[in-house]
Amino acid sequence: MALMGPDQWVRTIDYQEGVQALEISLPTDADGFLSQECPSCEQRFKVIFGEGSEEPISYCPYCGHNGQDCWHTQAQVDYLQSVAVNVALGPELKKLERQLKGMSKGFLKVDMTSDLSEPLPAPTETDDLLDILHLPCCNETVKVTRHERHFCIICGTEIDMTISDAKKVFLSHKGDDKKLVNDFKETLKLLGYDVWFAEDAMPPGTTLERGLRRGMQDSCGVVFFITPSFKDESFLETEIDYAVQERREKGEKFVIIPLQFVGADGNTGEIPKSLETYVWKQPKTRLEALREIVRALPVAPVSIDWRDEIAGVVTAPKTKSTVTELSEEAKAILKAAAAGDGKIMHMRYIGIGGEAIRVGGNNLIPKQDRRTIAIWVGGLEDLRQRRYIKDRGHKGEMFEVTREGYKAADELPGA
Ligand SMILES: [Zn+2]
Ligand SMILES: [Zn+2]
Repeated sequence: MALMGPDQWVRTIDYQEGVQALEISLPTDADGFLSQECPSCEQRFKVIFGEGSEEPISYCPYCGHNGQDCWHTQAQVDYLQSVAVNVALGPELKKLERQLKGMSKGFLKVDMTSDLSEPLPAPTETDDLLDILHLPCCNETVKVTRHERHFCIICGTEIDMTISDAKKVFLSHKGDDKKLVNDFKETLKLLGYDVWFAEDAMPPGTTLERGLRRGMQDSCGVVFFITPSFKDESFLETEIDYAVQERREKGEKFVIIPLQFVGADGNTGEIPKSLETYVWKQPKTRLEALREIVRALPVAPVSIDWRDEIAGVVTAPKTKSTVTELSEEAKAILKAAAAGDGKIMHMRYIGIGGEAIRVGGNNLIPKQDRRTIAIWVGGLEDLRQRRYIKDRGHKGEMFEVTREGYKAADELPGA
């Protein structure tokens, strides 16, 4: 969502010396999320500022409370206030103190010491075990404690988490059968299924069980690959437990598919006791096994269509990212900023018209005709699209050279 609230009141603008933006940043967790709190139900959730929707947070993801500029935690508000007061009032108070001291000669003694307290330490953000929830309606991503229903923080749409987007297929297997399972995984993906595969779907840092639980929740079915090497029952007991639990919660929207594979020597894997109640098949070929999976799943595969109609096949041309393809103007901006303090200001003069791209006190736009302005602003946009610069205030005014930007600047001739 767009930056709102505190961002506005911590920003001071000095029109005499161009724009001076004061930005106070709050520390985020390792994934870039910032804690927010609902003033109504007091539950905490996390958001990423500057990504997803352009709109501000307007609804609580838990209770649907509607409001704006009310989501910062008390600790964040206290911190922002203390910094803003110090920055805005500190110099003024010092000046006043000096003036009063100068006046206090003789008959009147004025003693004044500005006792602005030091800004509070920034509130720390912990990496807690919240679930990541994507809100496709507004292209937002939030971290929440998973409930049965949630609300989109932008548009307020209610999301029933019990049906949700659980369309993945969980492939449960033993390490030895990785090759076989990988075969299924690739084929299922081609059919349009999103596959959950213990190894690559496990985000680093989550514990194994938590990852498994999450994987199961996101799925509409689990396939147990029971091969002759599948003997170690205890290894899969947790997965079976979770699967049975999901079945209980989701009913027909979740299927358990135990497939018993026959080895080359005619041996079969042993069906674990806890899976015996579920109808299981003994497919003779892998194709038959695939058919059983697709047939059993509650979600149908994508229908046959012309290739250029399939969204996954047609890909939008990616922005080329080689630095030599930048326009001369983009190169000039990047070079100047990287050589200086890394900051770029884009200013629009409202009223008199005209624009400026300022780096280190100089306006890089040489002439104020529309064409020249368009070319230079285009150069700035080019840099932003390639992530060579970052929009600091998300208002298109303050930019900062990124790590990639510095790297690109080093590659420029004459750098
Ligand atoms: Zn709430
Ligand atoms: Zn929405």
